[in-house]
Amino acid sequence: MAAIILDGKQLAQSVLTDLLPRVRTLRARGIAPKLTVMRIGDDPASRSYIRAKIRACEQTGVMGDELVLPASTSQAEILARLDRLNADPLVHGVLVQLPLPRAVDPHAVAARIAPTKDVDGLHACNLGQLVQGNALLQPCTPAGVLRLLDAYRIDVSGKHAVVVGRSEIVGKPMALLLIRRDATVSVCNSKTPDLGVFTRSADVLVVAAGRAGLVRADMVKVGAVVVDVGVNRLTSGKLVGDVDAAAAHTASHLTPVPGGVGPMTVAMLIENTVNAAERAAPGGLQSTA
Ligand code: NAP
Repeated sequence: MAAIILDGKQLAQSVLTDLLPRVRTLRARGIAPKLTVMRIGDDPASRSYIRAKIRACEQTGVMGDELVLPASTSQAEILARLDRLNADPLVHGVLVQLPLPRAVDPHAVAARIAPTKDVDGLHACNLGQLVQGNALLQPCTPAGVLRLLDAYRIDVSGKHAVVVGRSEIVGKPMALLLIRRDATVSVCNSKTPDLGVFTRSADVLVVAAGRAGLVRADMVKVGAVVVDVGVNRLTSGKLVGDVDAAAAHTASHLTPVPGGVGPMTVAMLIENTVNAAERAAPGGLQSTA
């Protein structure tokens, strides 16, 4: 039987629609929620990701702004720009699009964004709160994955969840969120000797390695829930995930690429921006997050 497709595109639209009244309330109080995305250099994939983010902003009444700096910009200049955005009361969310030029330290950049405006959830304060289970701003991709699982009433409690990939932006926070939901979590990396041993024992498999075809159908347990975070562009120009499409005949649920995790990541970013704007409002505003 073919897997149920976890439709991130549709759910992301409904998340964005749910934000409309919250943005209207903010605007009625004279607050225009604003996200600034900083792009350093001219990576074509970054340009297209940012376009999607700005489009989602426009859909919800959030102001979306792209700040473009040349690839040669020094780290000191980037940090100075971040200081200005941190100090600007009209900006509620700040995101620096990855990847950064080689000479720039991603930890220094993440550390410089004010935790209250850190809508990517990568500041040590927000990641630390994630460990404690009370993060106000959670990393968008893992948060989007959980929201997708919730929407399809997939309960991970008591299940073996396997996360392939241990990056700070996806794999590690994903593992933390799954642990908080009472899953038993294994996290694999490029040195894991026999990946299939882990993936085949997963009730819930989240793959975020950035390797097309890494997980073949025979590496997926029958009836598993498979979340494919990977985005890979083949030489043909086609976008594919990390999981072979044939896994749709083994898994019970599967996210498509594109149209699965990607749109959810964007929706969580806009939701984080609205959360940040509500918290910054004088006297605060009730957040539904
Ligand atoms: P990353 O920083 O390059 O991390 C990749 C992780 O995968 C690393 O931990 C790496 O292990 C692990 N890995 C690589 N090859 C492996 C293998 N053969 N077996 C097991 N683990 C392996 O990438 P990322 O930023 O986490 O992104 C991962 C993928 O998700 C990329 O395709 C990216 O484009 C995509 N992504 C999608 C979204 C979305 O919204 N859909 C958002 C973010 C990222 P080591 O640590 O040992 O090197």
